[in-house]
Amino acid sequence: MDQRDLEKVFVKHGFHDFRWISGRDIVIGQWVRFKCMFMCHNYGHSAVCPPNMPPIEECRAFFTEYSRVVVLHREIQTATYAPDEVLLSETDESLLNLEKEVFLAGFYKAIALPMTVCYQCRECTGNITTCRHKDRSRPNPEALGVDVFTTVRRIGYPIEVLTSYRQAMNRYALLLVD
Ligand code: SF4
Repeated sequence: MDQRDLEKVFVKHGFHDFRWISGRDIVIGQWVRFKCMFMCHNYGHSAVCPPNMPPIEECRAFFTEYSRVVVLHREIQTATYAPDEVLLSETDESLLNLEKEVFLAGFYKAIALPMTVCYQCRECTGNITTCRHKDRSRPNPEALGVDVFTTVRRIGYPIEVLTSYRQAMNRYALLLVD
């Protein structure tokens, strides 16, 4: 399967807007981990968020092991503080199905990093060793220290700090392929 065939698979799973980058182009920041620690309510509550994640330097090394990564973009409209969890979880289900198809096509290193926190269980165990669905749970890019703003801006994608719930969100997932 070549790159054009892969792109047809992305579209089949509902991802029409994507761009290729190298793992070395993914910007990692220690500050991202600090935001998780001190400013996010998921810290310690999601099995696939810090502090269950590897140190930042291991995250950086992980991304450099991939020469082909696809950035998947979706614009999501929300009218309230809470993002549309149904839409986001449906998007991440599609992403996991895409990961599976790419893996079964022979890309044995394939791993998807979704657009949001894991929604598989009503109540998360909060611990990676007791995660109930390891086959369906994945960390999102931020949990692995990815500076999503800088990474996507460098390839021409939009992302802004939003000041109103009426503004559309630009959300991004990664599929590490190789
Ligand atoms: S599958 Fe369940 S236990 Fe595992 S990360 Fe997702 S919500 Fe948490």
